Amino acid sequence: MAKAIRIYNTLSRTIEPFTPLHENRVGMYVCGPTVYNYLHLGNCRTFSSFDIVFRYLIYAGYQVRYVRNITDAGHLEGDRDEGDDKFAKRAKLEKLEPMEIVQKYTQYFHDVMQAFNCLPPSIEPTATGHIIEQIEMTKLLLEKGWAYEVDGTIYFDVEKYSKENSYGILSNRNLNDLLDGTRELSGQDEKQGRLDFALWIKAKPEHLMQWPSPWGNGFPGWHIECSAMSQKYLGNEFDIHGGGMDLIATHHTNEIAQNCACNGVSPARVWMHTNMLTVNGVRMSKSAGNGFLPNELFSGSHPLLEKGYSPMSVRFFMLQSHYRSTLDFSNEALQAAEKGYARLMNAIKLIDNLKTEGDNASYIQSLTDKCEAAMNEDFNTPIAISHLFEGVTFINNVNDGREKISASDKIAIKKLFHDFVFDILGLKMESEQGNDKLDGLMQILLAQRADAKARKDFAASDLLRDQLLALGITIKDGKEGATYNL
Ligand code: AMP
Ligand code: ZN
Repeated sequence: MAKAIRIYNTLSRTIEPFTPLHENRVGMYVCGPTVYNYLHLGNCRTFSSFDIVFRYLIYAGYQVRYVRNITDAGHLEGDRDEGDDKFAKRAKLEKLEPMEIVQKYTQYFHDVMQAFNCLPPSIEPTATGHIIEQIEMTKLLLEKGWAYEVDGTIYFDVEKYSKENSYGILSNRNLNDLLDGTRELSGQDEKQGRLDFALWIKAKPEHLMQWPSPWGNGFPGWHIECSAMSQKYLGNEFDIHGGGMDLIATHHTNEIAQNCACNGVSPARVWMHTNMLTVNGVRMSKSAGNGFLPNELFSGSHPLLEKGYSPMSVRFFMLQSHYRSTLDFSNEALQAAEKGYARLMNAIKLIDNLKTEGDNASYIQSLTDKCEAAMNEDFNTPIAISHLFEGVTFINNVNDGREKISASDKIAIKKLFHDFVFDILGLKMESEQGNDKLDGLMQILLAQRADAKARKDFAASDLLRDQLLALGITIKDGKEGATYNL
C-alpha cells in the first residue's frame, strides 16, 4: 500500500509516484512559523495540511522524521532582506525583549497546534539554536566562491550561481523574468546583483539579537536557517520539503540555491506547497487586516465572524478542501462544516451499539480501499471525506434497520472510522458539556474571567483563556456571556 502514494511535486509540476530515498523511512522538512506575532488561521491551514501528510505517511507504514523549525531570528520585513527586523520591531512595540516575544508567540503557536490536534514534529529546531551551523554554511559558501562580503554582510551571488545552475527551477521562471520582477539597485544598495540575498547581516550596535561571527557581530538571513537545519537533521538529500505557496518564489528558491551550492545536490526530492486560505478571495495575512486569530475564531470575537466555531469544526472545514486548492473562508462554509463534523461524530458514536445480523456481504473493504485510494492520490482529503460520508449513511441505515451488518463488518467499519477520522484526519470527539463537577468548575473560571474583563485586566483574562486553550478548552464569547468547548 505504501508504494502507491503519489505526490504533486512543485519541481516537476506533476503528480509523481513517491519513493523514499531510504526504504521505509521518510525525512520531511516544513518551514515553521515566524514567532513575532500571533499566527493566523492561514498559517494553521498550512501546518494542518502537513500534519495530514505526516499522519498518512505513518499510517502507510513509514518511519517519519518530521522537522518543522521555529523562525525566531533573522526575518526581515521584506523577504529580500529589506526593512526592519520583525522581532526587533515587535519587541519595541510591546516593550519586551526580543526573546520574550519569541517565547510568547512560540507558546501561543504550540497551544493552537494542540487545540487543532496537530501532532508535534519529531524535531522542532530554532534558528537561534543553530547560529553556528548557519555561520559554518556561510563560510563554506564564501570559500567556494558563491558568496561575497560587503562591510560585515555576506551576500549570496545569484547571478554567478545562475551561470551553472537553474536558479528559478522551483518557480519555473528564467533569470530574466525574475530580474524583471525585482527593483533596480540604487546607489545605496551594497549588493552587486538585484537578486542577491543576505546570508549574514551586519548588526547595528543597538540591535538586540546579534552574535559574533568571522565578519563581526551580526545575525543570520532568513533563508540560510532552513538550509542549515534541514541539512543537519535530514542530510544533504531528503524526501519532502514543504511550506505555503508564497514561499516558492524566494525562500524555497534561495534554500535550493544555498544547498546546491554547498553540497552539489538539491536538498529535497519532492517540494510540496499548500495553497492559501483566503477571505472573500483575498489572501489571509496580518497586513491585509483579515488575518483573524484562532482564538477569535473559537470565541467569535472578530467582526467577520457571526459566531464562534470549535477547533474540530474548523479543522474539518480546512480538510474539506484539497491542500493545493485555495480555501475561502465564510461563515456559511464554517457552519456547514460544523454540521458535517457533528454528523460524522454522531455516526461514530452509533457503531458500538449497532445490531449485527447474519453473514451479509462485506462492503466495508471497498470503502476502505476508496479512502486509501483518495489519500494515496496526493493526500486528497475531500474525496476521502466524501467516502467516509457514504459510510455515515450506511451506519445510519443499519441503525434504522434499513441495512444489515455482520459482526466482522462492524469491527471493520469501526477500524475504518478510527483509522481515517481520528488517526489520519486528526479529528477528535469534542466532549459535550455533561459532567456536572467539571461544568461547575468551568463556570467558576468563566466568572473569574468575566470579573477580570470588567476590571479591564485584560492580561489576566487573556492568560486564563490561553491556559485553558493549552488544555484544549476553548472559550466562546457570546451575547449572553461566555461558553466553553472541551
Ligand atoms: P510565517 O509565520 O509568515 O513564516 O508563515 C508560516 C507558514 O504559513 C508559511 O508556510 C506560509 O506560507 C503559510 N501561510 C501564510 N499565509 C497563509 C495563508 N493565507 N494561507 C495558507 N498558508 C499561509
Ligand atoms: Zn524555511
